[in-house]
Amino acid sequence: MSDVMLRNISKRFGAVEAVRELSLAVNDGEFLVLLGPSGAGKTTTLRLITGLERPDTGSVMISGRDVTQDPPGSRDIAFVFQQYSLYPHLTVFDNLAFPLRSPARRVAEPIIRKRVEQTAELLHIAGKLNNRATRLSGGEMQRVAIGRALVRDPSIYLMDEPLSSLDAKLRAELRLELKRIQLEVGATILYVTHDQVEAMTMASRIGVMKDGRLLQVGTPREMYENPSSSYVASRLGTPQINLLPASLMSDIPLPRGTQTVGIRTEHLQIAARNGGRLIGRVNRVEHLGEQNHVHLDYRGQMLVTLADPHQPLQSGQEVEMRLTNPLYFDAAGQRLDAMV
Ligand code: ATP
Repeated sequence: MSDVMLRNISKRFGAVEAVRELSLAVNDGEFLVLLGPSGAGKTTTLRLITGLERPDTGSVMISGRDVTQDPPGSRDIAFVFQQYSLYPHLTVFDNLAFPLRSPARRVAEPIIRKRVEQTAELLHIAGKLNNRATRLSGGEMQRVAIGRALVRDPSIYLMDEPLSSLDAKLRAELRLELKRIQLEVGATILYVTHDQVEAMTMASRIGVMKDGRLLQVGTPREMYENPSSSYVASRLGTPQINLLPASLMSDIPLPRGTQTVGIRTEHLQIAARNGGRLIGRVNRVEHLGEQNHVHLDYRGQMLVTLADPHQPLQSGQEVEMRLTNPLYFDAAGQRLDAMV
């Protein structure tokens, strides 16, 4: 059974269509990441699931029940935000215990203590339980915020960029932690981000959103190898996929209707000139240590590829390019050779 099922939901704010005819099923135990730029409608989608917003059309089902008209709070959902929203004057213990101490829940104090201690163990903050929230580092605060969701043991977690206010190192660390915790407790998570690395590393499936629409949903690998549009292709992978106008590729046979050819960096090899027809000129070489990013000028179009740091390449040098696995897109950016 799906834990969350959105059927054709739309939400408009005045002239802005924040979410358009979106359908999505989040399965039990799944880590589904909604990836998209600012304004794509990701947060609105989460708010529609919590009931903080009502859809104009469509329905929201949670654990098989239609909750579209139910008030927020009646749904068994925990929400983790980008901001930690802890109670600064309380200790870590009391922050974690807070959701369990609500009068409606009536959880006995020994059970609260047990749940809090278990959660703190899971999050590796057991040593901080007596600290005040204000005495924590950013990463610890975010662990506590995640912990406050975990203690309640809800059926679904919604997370809105929970790691985006942390520095890169902590983000990488908590990414691993969050994935570990999700697997350990078997949680169903719907996670919003604009960070493709978070999406690729944590998701069981990724949904790419743009302008209120869900463009494609699939496993990270499916999305990377088999994008349904040039937009999805360009959202996943660093450096970004090369997108060339078909007019520059007249030397190779293209499917009818091709407007754009997509070539991932790993599918563009640089070789010594050897009679081939795709000749590019090295524009700039960026040294990143374990590999180089090479920017090439091909008939006025800039392309980027990866190269071994030991490959001798000079700016201005002419090189032959070898392409494999090109993706073909039509004028609307839709994949032509798609197996999707
Ligand atoms: P971000 O990554 O910046 O949070 P997002 O993908 O989460 O972006 P949303 O916050 O869902 O996007 O917003 C989608 C669109 O709806 C935006 O154009 C936004 O300005 C608009 N919007 C969202 N909430 C409201 C509101 N309460 N009133 C008016 N417009 C809103």
